[in-house]
Amino acid sequence: MLGPPASGKGTQAVRLAQARGIPKISTGDILREAGQAGTPLGLKAKALMDRGELVSDDDMVSIVSDRLAQPDAKQGFILDGFPRTVSQARTLDQMLAGQPLAIIDLAVPDSELIHRMEDRRVCSKCGRNAEPGTPAGDICSFCGGKMVMRADDGDAEVRKHRLEVYARESKPLLDYYRGRPTFRSINGAQAPDLVANELNAVLEKMVPAPVRSS
Ligand SMILES: [Zn+2]
Repeated sequence: MLGPPASGKGTQAVRLAQARGIPKISTGDILREAGQAGTPLGLKAKALMDRGELVSDDDMVSIVSDRLAQPDAKQGFILDGFPRTVSQARTLDQMLAGQPLAIIDLAVPDSELIHRMEDRRVCSKCGRNAEPGTPAGDICSFCGGKMVMRADDGDAEVRKHRLEVYARESKPLLDYYRGRPTFRSINGAQAPDLVANELNAVLEKMVPAPVRSS
């Protein structure tokens, strides 16, 4: 799942993972957890992400290959936040060794992304996203933690910089994938339910969900 920061790909990835019964693998979540746990990689990644920069290809690849090796990823998985560079995409192709890969791009105009980042709140304790429009200082309905602006959403310069980094690093990714029969671009500026419907329809044609026996 590809898309700029605040395109809604995290939200859509969660819904899709639940619908399909496969794990959502978010490199952002993995790195944030490592940051909270205070591991060396986690602290390094946190400092970079708070400035709107990207974690190195080598670090990202080792995080993802460790995660894909776990048993729950054997029946499929949704990647959110990876690959972000052409180099990472080439490595992913090697890791998959011919397994089918659907590539979904959630396209959202920059003006809408800036607006969403200004509005977005996350739980300072468990990291879950709040419903859009939640005022700062609200309480997480899941764990009781305080809802705050994400460090990388808070500053206008950082917001602008993240979109510039995304454009510079990740648009070549779209060129890398665009010619494939399993590449689709979806309008991510629609309401979340409409995005989810379109995403399901598109995926059902490319990678039909297996009939579950239970
Ligand atoms: Zn929480």
